[in-house]
Amino acid sequence: MTNKNDLIKRFISYVTVDSQSDPKSKTTPSTPKQWDMANLLVQQLKEFGLSDVSIDEKAYVMATLPGNVDHDVPAIGFISHYDTTPDYTGTNINPQIHKDYDGEDIILNEAEEIVLSPDYFSDLKLYKGQTLITTDGTTLLGADDKAGITEIMEAVKYLISHPEIKHGDLKIGFTPDEEIGRGAHHFDVEKFGAEWAYTIDGSQIGELEYENFNAAGAVVTIKGKIVHPGYAKGKLINSMYMATDFINSLPRLETPEHTEGRQGFFHLHDIKGSVEETNLEYIIRDHDKAHFEARKEIMEKLVADLNAQYETDAISVEIEDQYFNMREKVEPVMHIVDIAEEAMKEVGIMPIIKPIRGGTDGSQLSYMGLPCPNIFAGGHNFHGRYEYVPVESMQKAVEVIVKIAELTAQKYTS
Ligand SMILES: [Zn+2]
Repeated sequence: MTNKNDLIKRFISYVTVDSQSDPKSKTTPSTPKQWDMANLLVQQLKEFGLSDVSIDEKAYVMATLPGNVDHDVPAIGFISHYDTTPDYTGTNINPQIHKDYDGEDIILNEAEEIVLSPDYFSDLKLYKGQTLITTDGTTLLGADDKAGITEIMEAVKYLISHPEIKHGDLKIGFTPDEEIGRGAHHFDVEKFGAEWAYTIDGSQIGELEYENFNAAGAVVTIKGKIVHPGYAKGKLINSMYMATDFINSLPRLETPEHTEGRQGFFHLHDIKGSVEETNLEYIIRDHDKAHFEARKEIMEKLVADLNAQYETDAISVEIEDQYFNMREKVEPVMHIVDIAEEAMKEVGIMPIIKPIRGGTDGSQLSYMGLPCPNIFAGGHNFHGRYEYVPVESMQKAVEVIVKIAELTAQKYTS
């Protein structure tokens, strides 16, 4: 078992470093302050005595904990991101520790009357009697994903001080800019040198994910014709009315607010319109590859149909793929999920296996040649002031990482 106080201390030392990313930036890392976290981690990995500790010019941190067995074991990796989301402020984080949580309301901020309540966030009830770390109500916490970083670091420390636990080479990777969708973009899979890896970036204890959306973005452009309204008869073409036709022709119930589980959707997330031109921005999501392709075709056919109906070519659509369901890459190597599942059961956790309604860095990495399921880091209510993490869940994540390393070495003995 990892030392609880050491883990808390490490977690707090990480979340109090502001490392927010910025989607408007074109550099990597997107914010200079992310270097503070990257450099801190490099220094600590060196202090641990790991091999090949490196940081590249884009602040990707990598290191190796060499194996301690004689036989061949595949190198496996553990990956987390050290940036925090730009959705909510991550400056001056002031974490609050609540020991022996009583299952009642937690007052985060008395002056501003900000309360973390199990009446609203019922998951809190799972953690009665445990130690919770929360915000002070004015910032996010940054457990996404400094919980993951903490857990990987504590697992490495634990394995170093327990050489009786046998494992192969373990590769450690810490990335910038995951929250703005770029965490995997400059990840050097070859240099990393793992046969497979796990991102430690899920939420609730037990989560194990190897399915995510296939994702595309679509921009529909509709050109109109502006004429003085007093002289417009038979001449003016209002692009906004054509846009309305387009919007209403897509299935109204196949939207995020009407779907769950493995159901896909079209999501209109932005409209800019004038008589002369209207732009619609959609995202298209589906776990099933065939359905995903069909959704893209539906959009293209709708554009063609409306052009025919209006006897014009004023409507066009640009569709761009964004990421794909990692299941396609993970299923042929399903033992990597089985090992994680077995590890959880061995440390007394009931695995929660469910499809992600989104993407992870692991989905991109899987298509870059590094199959990479996602494992819980333990936090809840990411990206806002109600974010919290139970310390006991973090301790369990450390145990899962250690157990995965151990089981992998055992499975390759013969
Ligand atoms: Zn995350």
